[in-house]
Amino acid sequence: MKPILEAKDLTKVFFRGSLLARDRIVAVDNVSFTMNRGEIFTLAGESGCGKTTVARMILGFEEPTSGEIVYENEQERKDKEKVWFSQRIQAVFQNPFETFNPLRKVEGYLFETVRNYQLAQNRADAVELIDQKLAAVGLSYQEVEGRYPSEFSGGQLQRISIARALLIDPSLLIADEPVSMVDASIRMSIVNLFRRLRDELNMGILYITHDLATAYYLSGQIAIMFRGNIMEMGPVQEVLMNPRHPYTQLLRESIPEADPDRKWQGRISIAETEQEEYLRQGCKFAGRCPKVMEICKNQVPDTVLVDGIHVKCHLYKGTASEVEGVRAKPV
Ligand code: SF4
Repeated sequence: MKPILEAKDLTKVFFRGSLLARDRIVAVDNVSFTMNRGEIFTLAGESGCGKTTVARMILGFEEPTSGEIVYENEQERKDKEKVWFSQRIQAVFQNPFETFNPLRKVEGYLFETVRNYQLAQNRADAVELIDQKLAAVGLSYQEVEGRYPSEFSGGQLQRISIARALLIDPSLLIADEPVSMVDASIRMSIVNLFRRLRDELNMGILYITHDLATAYYLSGQIAIMFRGNIMEMGPVQEVLMNPRHPYTQLLRESIPEADPDRKWQGRISIAETEQEEYLRQGCKFAGRCPKVMEICKNQVPDTVLVDGIHVKCHLYKGTASEVEGVRAKPV
């Protein structure tokens, strides 16, 4: 089966500061992974880890500095570059209230999409198609007709965003923190909706989140990112239940539900250390890692295979299962 998407050594470099004192920030550093149809693949990590920049490159909003993104039907993409992205890849973003203009009726967005892509011959056909896609997300045209964004909850608006994306029958949906601004009480219903879309429509979903609980529930494969690098990648059950990388271990311990007093110190210092960590030589996590060694401070670790899991850490250098220099790809 041909992958729906392959990211190969994807790198994005930004420059910060003035012309005379510019810092070179490698926001995404040689990221490689593969996604198949009917798969939910999660990119997880704290804010500023580079996961959204990866999504923006896949969506064509940012040009990679180097590396390559290979899409399913690559030739078709080259032939029809401009319309290809929006027909094949749709995105759902974090804040549903920003997606819709408060002064415009919500149905207008749905009809506009039908019109732009010439999906129906007349209004009756358009209503039927819109109703069908709204039904896929647990709503109906009747519930949406004539109403403004303020008349819906955040969860309902997010569902309408998803229905709008579905109108085009995309093969890949990119969901960037889609439940982080939605009430906890309806979060799971949206998460379950993604599972249903995967199962019923065989859609690939790239799920981008800082929330390991929903990532665990939803995904097949997961890549844990830190300061532009994939630190650990493999089947979600293995990575989250038996984390090898010190960063994944800390990230997992930072899930706050169990004990609200037990806060991961990194959460407090992220903003102050972000730039410093991006500019760090050696392992980007060395400044916070409880297992840091001398080598970590000046030598970038290779990604190695540990029991089938890709881990970027010097701790595993020289282990029996090590594969030197392997590029991170899902198993
Ligand atoms: Fe920690 Fe070193 Fe591994 Fe980085 S390479 S995660 S600093 S042990």
